[in-house]
Amino acid sequence: MITVKDLHKKFGQLHILKGIDLEIKRGEVVVVIGPSGSGKSTFLRCLNRLEEPTSGEIIFEGELITEKRHNINKTREKMGMVFQHFNLFPHKTVLDNILMAPMKVKKQNKTEAQAKALELLRKVGLEDKSAAYPSQLSGGQKQRIAIARALAMEPHVMLFDEPTSALDPEMVGEVLEVMKGLALGGMTMVIVTHEMGFAREVGDRILFMDQGVVIEHGTPQQVFGSPRNQRTQDFLSKVL
Ligand code: ADP
Ligand code: MG
Repeated sequence: MITVKDLHKKFGQLHILKGIDLEIKRGEVVVVIGPSGSGKSTFLRCLNRLEEPTSGEIIFEGELITEKRHNINKTREKMGMVFQHFNLFPHKTVLDNILMAPMKVKKQNKTEAQAKALELLRKVGLEDKSAAYPSQLSGGQKQRIAIARALAMEPHVMLFDEPTSALDPEMVGEVLEVMKGLALGGMTMVIVTHEMGFAREVGDRILFMDQGVVIEHGTPQQVFGSPRNQRTQDFLSKVL
């Protein structure tokens, strides 16, 4: 579904991504771990060109999306993204937050969009919150709404950038449960997280990034069970 070839990103003189190669198959859950500042967010943001790659290629569903003339907005509709901070529209209800993009971008009519939104609210366990405003929700609930909003566009892949890092500990589980449900339902996902238990349980593959390079890559058993690289071992010994 996604092929990344020799992806580089520089910010001025700073060489942040130094040649990332990756293939993601449909239905796969790829979890990216690594120390802060290693380039995980930059990598994720390059996948939908929220950051413009400096060089390299990204092929998404057979299309070279790093081509300058490529219509990236069309592609972004197929790539849902969930951030650490939820970015819900504060003056809109939960339902309207979810409805907006499908109606504006996908030209769905209100009845259709509403039915879909309610179904998604059920899926994330918040069907009773459709009329609430974001300020009336807990962090975990907001993040579940952010996930429902991304899903409303019927993306082909979901990108998560530390979706639970801003949450109080007691709310982490409910968000991870929703993500796990998505994974079990066959969604293709790329997830940056520090939740190692989740990575191990839900990830099909783990990438360990350090200083802009993928230095270890394998199944959870390989990466967590018998990491080959000293830097992976050091990182895991600190976080596990
Ligand atoms: P991670 O998500 O792994 O913590 P990031 O991808 O956010 O890492 O950042 C990697 C490095 O790139 C950091 O040193 C960060 O300061 C730098 N960086 C990220 N975005 C920018 C930017 N827009 N301009 C300059 N440097 C940036
Ligand atoms: Mg980050």
